[in-house]
Amino acid sequence: MSTPFDPSHLPPVDWEPAPPVTGGELARRVRTRRTRRRFLKAASGVAAGVVAAGGGLWVWRAATRPREYDYGGITCSEVEPRLERLLAGQLPEPEATRVRTHVAQCPNCGPALEALRRKLASRGDTASDG
Ligand SMILES: [Zn+2]
Repeated sequence: MSTPFDPSHLPPVDWEPAPPVTGGELARRVRTRRTRRRFLKAASGVAAGVVAAGGGLWVWRAATRPREYDYGGITCSEVEPRLERLLAGQLPEPEATRVRTHVAQCPNCGPALEALRRKLASRGDTASDG
């Protein structure tokens, strides 16, 4: 008859059990960390590029910004935020006259007022349609 299976008759296991973290696993972890660091470096490089581009754009805009005019005792940067209220008739009178005087002579604010007027008109049209 055959003998029952007995594991103790098997040759002893002479290889050591694998450590929890094998060399391959360790290498993979190191590689992951290195990849992440490379990614962060690349990301920060991209961020720096974006900042540089933004700064360049800012400089470009500052350089190409139309120069400030002073008509009617008021400057373009003071007129611009008042244009919408002027069109809406919400600007108090001494101020409204100064803004109108400025816009009438200013090569920047004249077209800006026209563009705003058109924009508000088209917005009003679409609003009344709904
Ligand atoms: Zn102006």
